[in-house]
Order: sequence, then C-alpha cells, then structure tokens
Amino acid sequence: MEKNQTNKSKRTRKKILFNLVGFLGLVLTSISLGVKKFQDYHQDFQTDHFGTRENPAYTVNKSINEQDTETYSSFYGALYEKRIKDLEIALREYKSDPKLKSNLEQLLKQINDEDQRLMEEYQLVFLRNQDNQLNADSENNDSVAKRAKTLFLSMTGKEYPPEIKLRLGRPIINGEEVQGGYQPTKRRITVYPSNFEDTLLSSMHEIGHSIEAHTKDRLFGNHSYEEQLMSEASAYCFQNASCYFEDPKTRKLMLQTHRIELFEDVMLSSRGRKDYRIEAMILSDAATTHFGNPVTAFQYLQKTPYRELDPDILHLMQRNKSIFLRQNQLKTEAENILRAPGN
Ligand SMILES: [Zn+2]
Repeated sequence: MEKNQTNKSKRTRKKILFNLVGFLGLVLTSISLGVKKFQDYHQDFQTDHFGTRENPAYTVNKSINEQDTETYSSFYGALYEKRIKDLEIALREYKSDPKLKSNLEQLLKQINDEDQRLMEEYQLVFLRNQDNQLNADSENNDSVAKRAKTLFLSMTGKEYPPEIKLRLGRPIINGEEVQGGYQPTKRRITVYPSNFEDTLLSSMHEIGHSIEAHTKDRLFGNHSYEEQLMSEASAYCFQNASCYFEDPKTRKLMLQTHRIELFEDVMLSSRGRKDYRIEAMILSDAATTHFGNPVTAFQYLQKTPYRELDPDILHLMQRNKSIFLRQNQLKTEAENILRAPGN
C-alpha cells in the first residue's frame, strides 16, 4: 500500500503548460526580433489556431449518451452519502444502547469490504498502467498520434491542426518528470509513454490544452491562478469526453484511469493538499456533474473566465470534498468505539 502510494505519486499526472525553457525562449526571441515581430506572432497565433474566446476555432460538437457519464457524485458520492447516513444511524443507536454494538460492527465490516474491493480495482488499474509500457519509438509514436487525431476528428468534426506536433518522449519540465506537456510557443505536444490507453488519455489532455482559450490568455499575459485552474479543468474535461468517443474496450480502460485519478485527487484535496491540478480535476468533475456530461462541460469551461463560473459548480466541488471527509470521520469514530477497551 505504502509502496503503491509512493509509485503512484511519482506518476501523478502533472500537466505543465509552459516549459520554462520554452517561455524564456519566447521572451528572448521577442526581444531579439523586436516588438513588431512579436505583435505579428501574437496576431498570427490568435487568428490561425484558437479563434476567439467567444467563438473558439475548435470545440467538441458531438454529443454523447448522458446516461453513460460517470462522475465523482454519481460513483463515489452516492456510495459515501449512503455510508454517512448508515453510520450516523448506527452510531446514534449504539450511543443510546451499547448492546447494539453488533450493528455497528456489521456495518463497518461491510464498508471495509467495499473499500477493499475499490482498492483492488485501484491496484489493478495501477498495475495495468505499469505493465505494457510503450517505448517512445516511431511505431508507437505513429499509432498513438494516429488514434489521437482520429479521436479529435470524431469529437470536433474537424481535422487535427497539422501545425501542432504530437510526439512521445520524456517531458522533463523544470527538472520534474511529467506525463505530458503542451508548449504553445513551439506548437508541440510531448507525452510520456505509459500503456496505450493511458498514453492516449494524456495525449487528449494535452490536445485539450491546445484548443481551450485559457492557454491563449496565459500565453499573452494572464498568469493568474484562476486562469491556470480553468485551463487545467478544461483539459481534464476534454480527456474525459474523449473516452466516450472510443470503442467500448478502450473506453472502459480510459475511464477507469480517469476515475482513479479523480478519486485520488478528491482524497488528497480532503487531506489538505494544495495543488491547482488537483483542484482542476475536482472542478472539471463538478462541471461534468452540473451539465450531465463532459462535452457540455468542456464547451463551457474552455471559454468561461473563473469569476463567471456558475456558483452551483463551486458548491459541488466543496460538497464532493466534504462528503469524502465526513465519511472518513464517521468511519474513524466507529472504529475507535469498537477498538476501545471493554468493547
Ligand atoms: Zn494539463
């Protein structure tokens, strides 16, 4: 468990938009070429790739079957809310009549069994993601890039922008190994190869960055935390949406990886971990719950400024974090009662 957590944290999806080297390169280039050239570049970049914030050049324009959409609220949230209710009742009954301890014991066993099953699934996906690793050779590069571009066409109805290069490699950004990165100034996506489905998911995440409006805002001066958060949340929605355009087998494997990443992020956030990528995953999930599917959520997040976010989405984020925390508190309380001397 400890080992898994250590390994897992090493492979935590760390999507960094701006490679410091790339950014410094842009600054130096703009100085050496002069402001006029930079303005030309600015103009060119604005018009040929992104479109405008109000009218993005690319978006997901195919709908998916909303009944298939799985979110934290629908998967873990529903489970935890039921547990919270059951634990509250069992604890109340035990406190009024300690003879009812066996009910509490039984409930706790049932919860632990469920957690065990979830943990086994988590480990299976984790192990699968460790196995069947792709190499960054040209054959794998071509097969991932080809599949990602086909997926892009299915999602947006448009050909993948040929000026954005997609390749497998080992993205190291500021000395930190990450799963992928999009460098807008180089118009290049680099994805660290894992197994096929995971690599495809990472590719779609970075492609999401290449078409959402927050990337452009950040490239041209808006480096606020909120813009970073919106950019990341948009990319998570795009990766999530992409799963639904795959064949059933690939979809299942991609969705499992996405869900486990989400579960881990809610858990880490509830434990006080501060990281915009974790917040962004929770935000993308809340937006998906709010709209009922990741496609509409992406269309909304890709162009909405943080300050205009629907309050219901912010409320859902808090709620998902707090139900996780609440069920943990109640579970610990029950465990402590049963462990206490005399019990
Ligand atoms: Zn990202």
